[in-house]
Amino acid sequence: VTAAFPSVSKNRTLVIGGTGFMGQFITKASLAVGYPTFLLLRPGPVSPAKAVIVKSFQDKGAKVIHGMINDKEFMEKILKEYEIDVVISLVGGEAVLDQINLVEAIKSVKTVKRFLPSEFGHDVDRADPVEPGLRMYKEKRLVRRLLEEYGIPYTNICCNSIASWPYYDNCHPAQLPPPLDCFQIYGDGNVKAYFVDGNDIGKFTMLAIDDIRTLNKNVHFRPVSNCYSINELASLWEKKIGRTIPRVTIKGDDLLAKAAENCIPQSVVASFTHDIFINGCQVNFSTDGPNDIEINSLYPDEKFRSIEECYEDFVPMIHDKNISAGTNDEIKINNDRKTSVEKGTT
Ligand code: NDP
Repeated sequence: VTAAFPSVSKNRTLVIGGTGFMGQFITKASLAVGYPTFLLLRPGPVSPAKAVIVKSFQDKGAKVIHGMINDKEFMEKILKEYEIDVVISLVGGEAVLDQINLVEAIKSVKTVKRFLPSEFGHDVDRADPVEPGLRMYKEKRLVRRLLEEYGIPYTNICCNSIASWPYYDNCHPAQLPPPLDCFQIYGDGNVKAYFVDGNDIGKFTMLAIDDIRTLNKNVHFRPVSNCYSINELASLWEKKIGRTIPRVTIKGDDLLAKAAENCIPQSVVASFTHDIFINGCQVNFSTDGPNDIEINSLYPDEKFRSIEECYEDFVPMIHDKNISAGTNDEIKINNDRKTSVEKGTT
């Protein structure tokens, strides 16, 4: 908790999707700053892994509510009953349109001071991925238009990429260590993007929900210390592990071909990878429009963890496994990690 955080007596915050990949960072940050934090969970059994996550949040004071966001009457009831000030949605890509009834409920109760829809990535009005990623963006755009039409106070968090190695063939973006066997470099490898630590996404989101300057704005995360091309990421990793690794080029057309396979969800990740590293969707526009604000300009004294520091975290992971340089076991670590992400266990 820093001095920049406002009084904790307000901001009764409802987090939807708080057990998900991005939602965990947000829930953790909301609890850390002391906001009364409510977690909406879908009714029914949860996996043992999710049960552990929920219990850890409850131990820190989170209150669990069971219900569905697409049940408008139910959502109206809990927004009123728990006097919710802020709603943060982190439902996954497949559930973006489930937010429509939630938006209707927020419109109807009129007491929610800020809604953060499930964005937490690119500026979806500017980014232009091919299908099947485009479909998710069209749905996120639709939610944006509804919020504008209804006059609901909103903030769109455009936090760019999570700090890790951006594998194009994963089922889900995750905090995976960079490879040890071979770098796959997209295009010429020189297009820049922003790689932000998940806990910083949480920390800065908590600042933004209470700030008049972020009201009805797209809040862009563009920390200078986190702006790297994939060539630069590769060199950084080589420096950290003290040896060089071969590089192969994945051409823009290869990414488009993977996207065109329409294999869900991998093709979605491929289409976003193309938009980031070939089109430059995170850097090819300026943020000086009337609805834009850069988070760095709002909180100049609050530091982001640099990508250097984030990559430092990956080094012990490799040493812990007692892996010596250049063995096939190295490759296995990455494959195992990717598999565990695919199973949703990481
Ligand atoms: P996940 O799939 O990891 O988690 C989704 C969460 O939403 C789960 O807790 C899930 O609950 C819950 N959920 C889904 N549908 C409903 C529903 N109808 N009602 C209530 N809860 C629901 O999602 P992500 O964390 O990957 O994605 C969240 C947002 O973050 C998305 O907008 C995504 O695009 C973005 N994102 C951005 C990344 C980046 O690098 N910038 C990386 C990853 C995501 P349950 O456990 O019941 O399934």
